[in-house]
Amino acid sequence: MQEKILIVEDEPVLLETLEYNLTKQGYAVSTANTGPKALLVAREQQPDLIVLDIMLPGLDGFEVCRILRQEMNVPILMLTAKTDEIDKIVGLEVGADDYLTKPFSMRELLARIKAQLRRIRLIHEEVAEASHTATTSNNLIFDNLVIDMERREVKLDGNLLHMKPKEYELLTFLLQNQGRVVSRDLLLERVWGWDYSGGSRTVDVHIRWLREKIETNPTSPARILTVRGIGYRFEG
Ligand code: CA
Repeated sequence: MQEKILIVEDEPVLLETLEYNLTKQGYAVSTANTGPKALLVAREQQPDLIVLDIMLPGLDGFEVCRILRQEMNVPILMLTAKTDEIDKIVGLEVGADDYLTKPFSMRELLARIKAQLRRIRLIHEEVAEASHTATTSNNLIFDNLVIDMERREVKLDGNLLHMKPKEYELLTFLLQNQGRVVSRDLLLERVWGWDYSGGSRTVDVHIRWLREKIETNPTSPARILTVRGIGYRFEG
């Protein structure tokens, strides 16, 4: 089935370029060039993913994201020209799934879109499986890395890894958000809880331990990537 993407961008040339390239990739593309129009089209079309610019007439991308978040569970990839906005974009308040800093390459955008759509498909499949039969295997497979969600076991190349409970929880949260930037604050909240008194260095230490276990080369990680100044992203 053709996946639907809504592009929200007020620069006509960029909008046209994005529309052309995404259509060529086989997506059903709809567009909006203002904040209010973005809300209308999103509600009407129920897209599978939204590419959302921040500086927009009428209502900015932050507001659009906040409003849509309450109405639908759609991945939102934000476009920003300012790196100082990134904290806010992936923070709890706005809650975009990913972002790209302008200027960006079409290849990078397509890779991020594919990662988000894959993540959503994975979640849908899990939900469908869970409701189907309780005996279905709950394994998540990333090449040589296999996570048995039922037994809470992680295997690399078939060998069982010894994981501390927090390492396991951190890993599963990261991979359920595959392709998405996850901030340290969000990881602290979800894995350690709001009442945890330690700082975000705890997250970094656990990430280092995880990398030592699941990365081929822990000093040059390919699975858990660092997003500078923000947090981490699980690639697969
Ligand atoms: Ca703009």
